[in-house]
Amino acid sequence: MNISDIMTRLGVNETAYTKGDLIVETPIDGSEIGRVAIGDAAAIDAKLAAAQEAFLQWRAVPAPRRGELVRLLGEELRAHKDDLGRLAMECGKTLSEGLGEVQEMIDICDFAVGLSRQLYGLTIASERPGHHMRETWHPLGVVGIISAFNFPVAVWSWNAALALVCGNSCVWKPSEKTPLTALAVQALYDRAAAKFGDAPDGLSQIMIGAREAGEQLVDDARVALISATGSTRMGAAVGPRAASRFARSLLELGGNNAAIAAPSADLELSVRAICFSAAGTAGQRCTSLRRLFVHEDIYDSLVPRLKKAYASLPVGDPLEAGSLVGPLIDHAAFDCMHYALDRARAQGGTITGGERIGDKGYYVRPAIVELAAHEGIVCEETFAPILYVMRYGDLDDAIAMQNSVVQGLSSCIFTRDLLEAERFLSATGSDCGIANVNIGPSGAEIGGAFGGEKETGGGRESGSDAWKAYMRRQTQTVNYSPDLPLAQGVKFDV
Ligand code: NAD
Repeated sequence: MNISDIMTRLGVNETAYTKGDLIVETPIDGSEIGRVAIGDAAAIDAKLAAAQEAFLQWRAVPAPRRGELVRLLGEELRAHKDDLGRLAMECGKTLSEGLGEVQEMIDICDFAVGLSRQLYGLTIASERPGHHMRETWHPLGVVGIISAFNFPVAVWSWNAALALVCGNSCVWKPSEKTPLTALAVQALYDRAAAKFGDAPDGLSQIMIGAREAGEQLVDDARVALISATGSTRMGAAVGPRAASRFARSLLELGGNNAAIAAPSADLELSVRAICFSAAGTAGQRCTSLRRLFVHEDIYDSLVPRLKKAYASLPVGDPLEAGSLVGPLIDHAAFDCMHYALDRARAQGGTITGGERIGDKGYYVRPAIVELAAHEGIVCEETFAPILYVMRYGDLDDAIAMQNSVVQGLSSCIFTRDLLEAERFLSATGSDCGIANVNIGPSGAEIGGAFGGEKETGGGRESGSDAWKAYMRRQTQTVNYSPDLPLAQGVKFDV
């Protein structure tokens, strides 16, 4: 794959990805694929000033017109889906998953265009004669977007497409591990803005940098909302920091997602869903399946099938046809995987797989770890393809184990028993932001609100009414009578 051809087609200036201090290496084989300049504090400050100025203009543009800019962005993404999807090799995704990520961007643009005519408020009955009340949603301000390496572009679009139709400006700090896809997306946005004609300068910008750049974004009083996607450790730093200046934050953090395979589960469907969720993307999705509770009646039929499927998973260069599992992002991720497997072994776990494949890049055979107890390392998120498998006898116990971890992102049950499915989805069932029946915990659609509870951060992005996080709500009361009755019957005659 020729990076410079792709970048040229995507409209990225060569110096933007060949000159700079940040060296970009592909996890496919560890080779250098670019060099990018890191913005200093003054450069970031200038971007934030421009974003604030752009917001002041953009908020007055009618929302359906704002939607037109996002429609044009969606058109650019459609036209360049293949190149941008290939560029997702920057994080080691297979081509199919890279294309899927770009499709997700297109989908959220379509959603946001429709939304630009549906930013509905409420009309509320007033208790006072001759008055009416309503709730109106207004643009919020500059939205700071911090994103993780594993969804190098889709998470930006979930935020930016909504933020832009809601009348905000955006400043994006992508992961320092995936700056090339970010530069490409910025170039596509710039083309869309040029076609739009009168979008204010600085309406949507990127700033390349690492943690320090993110901190500057979090601390800047001009940033009204920080939307941060990444590890719980990052969220634990960002959340209180933003709160200390009363900024809003939208946190999308780590998960430790589970599946319950109940006695009536369709075994073939379950095995396929488990393989995709646990081993797909080399276990590097926030929604990757990490814990599997299998009913004791089907354990000996399901788990051997699963091991057989795991043994045949094609692991290798994600851009080669047929590869289903690409590399881990880097050496540190490989070390984390082996640290977790060592701890699991020390806890008495039986490990199948987990070995490194080849010596270029960090490719691993996805691991299955059978354990007697739900404890220790099982309760932590390791961002690698490790599936902990445990037996259960009683559904209530399985749900309790599933809910006993600090993360609360995604969950699922495999069952053909309606009572079990509904119990799992009820108020006393899964405590996660996402709960599925007969599909794995990963691979969400943009139409639903995406996010999780507890240490996953509580934020919601993407579909449903997630747009409300990007606007400020105003309650308005209008008196169209000549009198001044006070609420609650209070008298104050002067
Ligand atoms: P990470 O936390 O290392 O980095 C994420 C981003 O935060 C990067 O851009 C990084 O530069 C920035 N950052 C780190 N510390 C910061 C700080 N103190 N202040 C400001 N910015 C800071 O995460 P990662 O390794 O890139 O991604 C993997 C993690 O992200 C996993 O835990 C995964 O579950 C999570 N994730 C969650 C979701 C979700 O929607 N819930 C989606 C994708 C990834």
